[in-house]
Amino acid sequence: MKQFDVVVVGAGAAGMMCAIEAGKRGRSVLVLEHCKNPGEKIRISGGGRCNFTNVDTRGSNFLSANPKFCLSALSQFKPKDFIALVDSENIKWHQKVLGQLFCDESARQIVDMLLRHMSEAGVTLWTGCEVRGIGAREGGGFLVSTGRENISCSSLVVACGGKSIPKMGASNFGYRIAEQFGLRICETRPGLVPLVFETGFLKNISAPLAGIGLDAQVSCGKRSFREAMLFTHRGLSGPAILQISSFWQEGEVIVINLTPDVDMLAALKSARDENGKQDIGTFLPSYLPKRVAQMVLGDIEGRLADIGNKKLGQIAANVNCWQVKPIGTEGYRTAEVTLGGVDTRDLNARTLEARQVAGLFFVGEVVDVTGWLGGYNFQWAWSSGFAAGQVV
Ligand SMILES: Cc1cc2nc3c(=O)[nH]c(=O)nc-3n(C[C@H](O)[C@H](O)[C@H](O)COP(=O)(O)OP(=O)(O)OC[C@H]3O[C@@H](n4cnc5c(N)ncnc54)[C@H](O)[C@@H]3O)c2cc1C
Repeated sequence: MKQFDVVVVGAGAAGMMCAIEAGKRGRSVLVLEHCKNPGEKIRISGGGRCNFTNVDTRGSNFLSANPKFCLSALSQFKPKDFIALVDSENIKWHQKVLGQLFCDESARQIVDMLLRHMSEAGVTLWTGCEVRGIGAREGGGFLVSTGRENISCSSLVVACGGKSIPKMGASNFGYRIAEQFGLRICETRPGLVPLVFETGFLKNISAPLAGIGLDAQVSCGKRSFREAMLFTHRGLSGPAILQISSFWQEGEVIVINLTPDVDMLAALKSARDENGKQDIGTFLPSYLPKRVAQMVLGDIEGRLADIGNKKLGQIAANVNCWQVKPIGTEGYRTAEVTLGGVDTRDLNARTLEARQVAGLFFVGEVVDVTGWLGGYNFQWAWSSGFAAGQVV
C-alpha cells in the first residue's frame, strides 16, 4: 500500500490550490481525479476566459447558512494574492464589469499555471482514477481505495465540487463522504441557473424574443441585481437571471424592471403632453428593443393622446414592474454552482477541517458556501484550498 501525507480528492480549483500549498510545505501529496483532465470547470469557465476572481470580494457576496463562515479563509488568501500569482506567470487579464477579472487569452492558462505549480511543489496527480471508498485508519488517518492502488494517508481533503454539470465529472461523492463521517449536509439545489417557464408564457417570449439581451433590474423578495438579461428559447437567462436564481424559491414571483433608469409612467405622461400624436408603437422602442416593446404592449395601440391614464399605468407596470413566475430551473445540467453542501457548523472556519474527525478537510464548492456570479466562486475555491493547504 502506498503512503502519502495528504490525499486530495478532486483536481479542480480548490483541490489543486490545496495540493500546491501542502506540497510547498514539504508534505507528500497525491491528487486523485476521476476525469481524464484536471481543472475542466476552470477551462470552460467565463466563456473560456475564466473569471478567476472579483476584486470586490466580500462576505456578503456568498450564500451560506452561516454567512460569516467564509470570512476566515477569504482573509487568508485574497483576490490580490491570486492576482499576484497570475501576474507572476505573466498571464494577461482585464477587468470586465463589477470587479470581475478575466484572462485576456484563455482559461487554459490558469489550469496550466496550477499544474506547473503542483509539479514544482512535488505533487503527484493521478487522473482517470476512480476513488472507490474511504475508510478510517486505526489510530487516525485514512485508507483510500482507488481503481489503481490503495493509499494510506494522514490527511484527506475532499475537493470534489458540487453536483452541477454531471457530464463534466460532477458527482455527489463529497456529500457521501461527509455523511459517512457524520457531518451534516445543508440541502443542495442548483444555483446560478437559467429559469424555466410554463409553455403558454414561453410561447409569448421565446420565439419572438429569443436572443435579445438588455440591461435589467431583476428582483426577488428583497434581493435585486442589475445586470444583463437574455431571452432564450427556454425562458430567461443572462447574468441578472442567474444571480436571482440563487435566491429564488419555488412558487415565488420575480419582478423585472426592463428600463431601470427610466420611470416609464412619467416618460409616457410627458410624451403624451408634449407630442400626443406620437404612436405608442413608435414611442416605446426608443427605450426597449422593438420586439420587447411589442410584447409589453400586447394589443394596446394608437396615439399617445388617445391612451388613458389606466392603460398608461398598465404599460408602465409591464415595463418597470414586469412580474414573471418561473416553474423551475434548468437544474444541475446547466447550473454553474450547487447551493448548500457540507454544513459549516461541522467545519473549522480557519482550516476547513471537520470538527469531529481529525485530518478530514472539505474545501471549495462542496462546502455550504456559494458565491454570486462574478468570480466569487473561484475566489472561494482558491481561499478555502489555500487555508486547508497550510495545515494538512
Ligand atoms: C459553465 C461554468 C462556468 C463557470 N464560470 C465561473 C467563473 O467564470 N468564475 C467563477 O468564479 N466560477 C465559475 N463557475 C463556478 C466554478 O467553476 C466552481 O465554483 C469551482 O470550479 C468550484 O471549484 P471546486 O474545486 O470546489 O470544484 P470543481 O472545480 O468542480 O472540481 C471538482 C473536481 O473533483 C472531481 N471529482 C468529482 N467527484 C470525484 C470523485 N468521486 N473522484 C475523483 N474526482 C472527483 C471533478 O471531476 C472535478 O475535477 C463556473 C461553473 C460552470 C459550470
